[in-house]
Amino acid sequence: MLALARRRARFNVRHLHTSKTACNSKYTPYDPDAEAREEELVDVCIVGAGPAGLSAAIRLKQLEAETGKEVRVVVLEKGAEVGSHILSGAVIEPSALDALLPDWRQTDHPLAQPVTSSSMRFLTQKYALPLPHPPQMNNKGNYIASLSRVAAWLGGIAEELGAEVYAGFAGARLLLSETDDAQDAQGRAVRSVRGVVTHDAGLTRQRTKSPRFEPGVAFRARATLLAEGAHGSLSKAAIARYDLRAKSAAQTYGLGLKEVWRVAPEKHVPGKVVHTLGWPLGWGTYGGGWEYHMADGLVSVGLVVGLDYKNPWLEPYREFQRMKHHPHFRALLSGLGAERLAYGARTLTEGGLQSLPQLHFPGGALIGCSAGVVNIAKIKGTHNAMRTGMLAAEAAFAALHPSAAFVSTASPATFKPSPAEVEAETESADDHAPVSLAGYSAAFPGSPAYADLWAVRNVRPGFATRAGLAGGVLYAGVDTLLRGRVPWTLGHKSEGNPSTSSPDALATRPAAECAKISYPAFEPPLSTDLMSSVALTGTNHAEGEAVHLRVMRGVDGAAWGETAARRRAHVRANVGAYAGLLQRACPAGVYEYPEGEEEGWEGHKLVINSQNCIHCKLCDIKVPTQDITWSVPEGGGGPKYTTGMLGADIGFATPNGVICSLVRPSVTRIDPRPFKLDSKDKLENCWRPRRFIG
Ligand SMILES: Cc1cc2nc3c(=O)[nH]c(=O)nc-3n(C[C@H](O)[C@H](O)[C@H](O)COP(=O)(O)OP(=O)(O)OC[C@H]3O[C@@H](n4cnc5c(N)ncnc54)[C@H](O)[C@@H]3O)c2cc1C
Ligand code: SF4
Repeated sequence: MLALARRRARFNVRHLHTSKTACNSKYTPYDPDAEAREEELVDVCIVGAGPAGLSAAIRLKQLEAETGKEVRVVVLEKGAEVGSHILSGAVIEPSALDALLPDWRQTDHPLAQPVTSSSMRFLTQKYALPLPHPPQMNNKGNYIASLSRVAAWLGGIAEELGAEVYAGFAGARLLLSETDDAQDAQGRAVRSVRGVVTHDAGLTRQRTKSPRFEPGVAFRARATLLAEGAHGSLSKAAIARYDLRAKSAAQTYGLGLKEVWRVAPEKHVPGKVVHTLGWPLGWGTYGGGWEYHMADGLVSVGLVVGLDYKNPWLEPYREFQRMKHHPHFRALLSGLGAERLAYGARTLTEGGLQSLPQLHFPGGALIGCSAGVVNIAKIKGTHNAMRTGMLAAEAAFAALHPSAAFVSTASPATFKPSPAEVEAETESADDHAPVSLAGYSAAFPGSPAYADLWAVRNVRPGFATRAGLAGGVLYAGVDTLLRGRVPWTLGHKSEGNPSTSSPDALATRPAAECAKISYPAFEPPLSTDLMSSVALTGTNHAEGEAVHLRVMRGVDGAAWGETAARRRAHVRANVGAYAGLLQRACPAGVYEYPEGEEEGWEGHKLVINSQNCIHCKLCDIKVPTQDITWSVPEGGGGPKYTTGMLGADIGFATPNGVICSLVRPSVTRIDPRPFKLDSKDKLENCWRPRRFIG
């Protein structure tokens, strides 16, 4: 019965969302606050179906099954499918997965490739010198996997357990109580979060309603978990609204650019992990490269560039392309059978423990990389994201059902309700009042995620000193040997109000003070121009939809909104002082400052090709003027890292057994390169759709 009711609820949401009658008038004014919208009452609304959000959903449903106390859990995902916006071709530490799903190894799972070797190299322009391997980078027991596939797999488990997972639904706005009913971190009276509103569809570029307008759904929740990954738009709003950084440093980020290659069979060493430091980045720029040999003859290669880079002439995309010109990568990615299959980019949090905001706010909490839990010394965040999801789920469940007794799997913490809370539960059984997730913040310091971040807290700030890369490597070496057991905690450089200003943007120097960088010509197929790469992301946004990147400041333009004068001021500052940084920094070529007479400054105007946006969030973080706001586009828009069907494996019987090849329907040819079959594979299983990357 319950399952049927849930399925109906799910159907209703979709139905209600899609069956609205179109507006009669062609273009009518739009006021998001005045729109009548369907409302769904849920216990926990989770925004983002990544490792954090899905672990939270799974844990909540496990607790429901254990205790018999119902909890309605909805997960909203802006990608067209779960996993389609998740990029990381990851080395995954399975400790959190072991805690969440102890039997996962006995199931059909996507962590197909255990790490077999792990090393570090320091790159000069010609050489790849071996570096001692820091203890945190030891990948023994870890797995190389496509994180988008892992998310899709976790999404399936969450659904099987009864969570409602809605892909193609972007959380656009926080739903707030009508009056002040809570206190923020500073003790000020504030309105609590009561859920989220999904994106209204069918807005025109002028932000009027087109004939296909459909209002978003209001998911009214007792607990709202923001699991949007790095620099989420609702998370940014919550951090600013509740001043959650009052006691922490601002966040600092890196941009990760990644490609997936099929390499020549003799170059593929399943399970091999290599990390690089040094070239092509200069001594003053933080970052490094990687090479992960996944299953099926695939290799993920990538480069992270710290966004506190100073020189506005730097182009992260071109740094990555020239990294592949290094003899080490050239050898790997050349030869018969080498082919690039996918490209993508996404920011990741680098600030670690010092940059964690207060985790809970009235009515909800930040989990995973919405809070910022990447262990940058390991370049891993998935395990911590999952831990925070589980921990917040347990705190939410304990707050929703104070009388339920359960054992925490996320932390040694116990969520023991006070007698008053138990009484309140009985009294307000039908009430849909928001609950406090303070228990999550209180339990976090006792969790393995905290210990993981504490041990490396000084590594990233160690690279941001005047000694640059050399000083950072030296300091990190000593610090990691001591596993962080030093009596100090280094801070991140930060100026201004950390709630609103980005230290990465502030680090940028005027173009006139920096040397221009001359990049080598592309050498296709090893390195290609940007648009050829963007074409591989499968990015799409609804035609004519409202631009989701706007020149405005403050959450939803709270400080000021977009006007022609503001756009002119943006062009003046960004072209005048920073040589149009965004047209080089955006990894999807969204920004241009071409010569134009309208709205221009000294012959330049701003063009935002928002349809190309791959949702990496760099522009919102790095623009020196801090006047670009990324907001969610219509649900389902954006990259399709997993949905692009790149081909299919087809099997042939040969005198020597069975071989499989990759058929690529787009070019209707059979690729003759064989790849190894698992001994368990059968010929009849060989024909299967090929979906990756992530
Ligand atoms: C290039 C790169 C390489 C990395 N390598 C590794 C690695 O090797 N190992 C490792 O452990 N970690 C790695 N990480 C870090 C890892 O990807 C993150 O720590 C992890 O994905 C965080 O999980 P999350 O669930 O918090 O966020 P995410 O995985 O980012 O998931 C967030 C989800 O929320 C969705 N979303 C966002 N906003 C909204 C909204 N408003 N409405 C609806 N949906 C929304 C997104 O589409 C996405 O699906 C890497 C990161 C990058 C960028
Ligand atoms: S427009 Fe912004 S968020 Fe979109 S791809 Fe470019 S830098 Fe990333």
